[in-house]
Amino acid sequence: MATKRDFYEILGVPKNASDEEIKKAYRKLAMKHHPDRNQGDKAKEAEVKFKESKEAYEMLSDPQKRAAYDQYGHAGVDPNMRGGPGGAEFAGGFGEAFGDIFGDIFGQARRGAGGRQVYRGNDLSYAMEITLEEAANGKDAEIRIPGWDECDPCHGTGAKPGTSAKSCTTCNGSGQVQMRQGFFSVQQTCPHCRGSGKIISDPCNTCSGQGKVKKQKTLEVKIPAGIDDGMRIRSTGNGEPGTNGGPSGDLFIEIRLKKHDIFERDGDDLHCSVPISFTTAALGGEIRVPTLAGEAAIDIPEGTQNDKQFRLRGKGMKGLRSSFPGDLYCHITVETPVKLSEHQRKLLKELDDSLKKGGLKHSPAEGGWAEKLKRFFN
Ligand SMILES: [Zn+2]
Ligand SMILES: [Zn+2]
Repeated sequence: MATKRDFYEILGVPKNASDEEIKKAYRKLAMKHHPDRNQGDKAKEAEVKFKESKEAYEMLSDPQKRAAYDQYGHAGVDPNMRGGPGGAEFAGGFGEAFGDIFGDIFGQARRGAGGRQVYRGNDLSYAMEITLEEAANGKDAEIRIPGWDECDPCHGTGAKPGTSAKSCTTCNGSGQVQMRQGFFSVQQTCPHCRGSGKIISDPCNTCSGQGKVKKQKTLEVKIPAGIDDGMRIRSTGNGEPGTNGGPSGDLFIEIRLKKHDIFERDGDDLHCSVPISFTTAALGGEIRVPTLAGEAAIDIPEGTQNDKQFRLRGKGMKGLRSSFPGDLYCHITVETPVKLSEHQRKLLKELDDSLKKGGLKHSPAEGGWAEKLKRFFN
């Protein structure tokens, strides 16, 4: 048998260390050697160290075992000399400390007042579609979410009125058992009572022993102005209820922005596409464009080309955390006239002839293009 290291030495604490010092030392080691943080080459060594410090902590954090160890050394606490119920160890004592410290470190299950394992309820998520206008102005919304109410006939106990629940004998009412999995000692919810610590032999008919009944509830939600697609609003405590008196989870309202007919949002800016006739593009003129706050005018200058954009400062969205609203970009699309009459064709041809007489001065882009082509082919 390999010689075992001294438990105090493993944790690096003096023989007269307080419980708090022991806990602190173990926590540090457990974090350092935790398998999640030690992959590859270091994994094997970390595993040994992790196991070793866990054992040392389990021994020294239990006053009885610590006393036995102080008096008899390893022989006083050797687990091989203890009769355990085949692989599963019951919570309370030996395994409890391990669960506690891991509850602390990894924020998982915690213990309720009665010593039972309590669990925080699951978070719920709710998708809410809103229009761009609602996102711009904010909105008071009402949503229906699943909720729970204490069962009336059994007053939340889950036991048929007139009967009562009994303490679970598998876990002695603690709601959990200690299982060995490889070198880990894992706390698990008691399979018999499912963590409640209680056995209800005569369940309430109304709630089937759950102590609670499902009930839709209406929740008022304030959607703040400026909210954007994909943002989430947390409604604390409106998720699923916890188990064994644990806290409720949270409700997350996820915002989806409906596609708008005119505007496309990009952060605080808005974009829209504005078609104008080719005569307006050529001659210039005032056009009316929509904004979230009503109409605005844009002066289209003479000779405006397709794809030209005009920026209307401050006509975008004011974001949740912005001090100023963004801008509205109007992208001009010059529309080619369709379904021409004979007369209109004739007029256009006349116009074309006249333009050609002016050479490339009326179409500088075409001139530049011709130059590029020439260079390309030579
Ligand atoms: Zn149980
Ligand atoms: Zn009931």
